[in-house]
Amino acid sequence: MRPMSASRHRLFRAGFAAITALGADRWLAPIARGRGVILTFHHVRPEPPEPFAPNALLSITPAFLDRTLTRLRERGFEIVGLDAVPDRLADPAPGRPFAVLTFDDGYRDNVAHARPVLARHGAPWTLFVTGDFADQRGRLWWIELERAVARLDRVTLASGLDCPARDAAEKSAAFEAAYRALRAETESVLLDEIAGLCRRAGFEPGAVAEELCLTWDELRTLARDPAVTLGAHTLSHPMLAKHDAATARREMAESRVRIETETGRTVRHLSYPVGDPTSAGPRDFALARDLSFATAVTTRPGHLFAGHAAHRHALPRVSVNGLHQTDAALASLLSGVPFLAWNRGRRLNVG
Ligand SMILES: [Zn+2]
Repeated sequence: MRPMSASRHRLFRAGFAAITALGADRWLAPIARGRGVILTFHHVRPEPPEPFAPNALLSITPAFLDRTLTRLRERGFEIVGLDAVPDRLADPAPGRPFAVLTFDDGYRDNVAHARPVLARHGAPWTLFVTGDFADQRGRLWWIELERAVARLDRVTLASGLDCPARDAAEKSAAFEAAYRALRAETESVLLDEIAGLCRRAGFEPGAVAEELCLTWDELRTLARDPAVTLGAHTLSHPMLAKHDAATARREMAESRVRIETETGRTVRHLSYPVGDPTSAGPRDFALARDLSFATAVTTRPGHLFAGHAAHRHALPRVSVNGLHQTDAALASLLSGVPFLAWNRGRRLNVG
């Protein structure tokens, strides 16, 4: 959920195009492609984005999900459940590369629009559930911020930020400025400021979950599907690294218990909310390990290599980005080439 500037997106698009034009997605894949890859998805819905849609990177169409699954098979990936990952990483004689499909936050559109596509492909998938969202409360603050900026013609924060927001271009700039400023603050400042913007825009914060997220009843129905793995995505979706250890531990442990109690399914996996280095760090990786999660996934980008067997609580993922729903982007991401420098330079991308 990290909006990027338009220039960065142009750079990404150019990068994907260059990688495929050079054929690098094929000739570098043998060294760049790891043993496997965990893909990250959020929303899957058919509607095209509005002109002002700063969270559009978090939404792909069912048709592009179908394309992604077809591409995975064409490129030789075996689609496996998250439970299989520890053994796959530790296997001394790895076979075909594997791909894991993960969906964060528990959106209703995942059942309405992704599940039929996944079922058609016989693909197992993991849904990471946030307890408060399933309770139809909690703060999907990045969506609240988008909705507030859409309605306001001026965006102001206590820090002094003051941006016009009269048309789509100004709104995009205002969203990006407010997002960047608030991400640098504590979580309570971020939540309070966005709550204030919501009220100024004429709606109450905290109503998004009821509209967009699966209820416990819906999750219980989904839990009967053997293709689905349910994972924990904390109770309230905090940026864990910004909170004390007791809070972080409670968020992880109690969300697992809640999902197990509500659905009757065992929960073995965790996804760190937001998941970048400012939101999940070494202390949180240690907590997830102490709590005996089999794996815990970040949003740090990269493929999985054998060395990740020793870092199962800080696994990188590859986000399938709604702003790049192209064959070139898919071929690049699945090749591992965009992460080559990162993976080699930072070893296993667990820092
Ligand atoms: Zn999330």
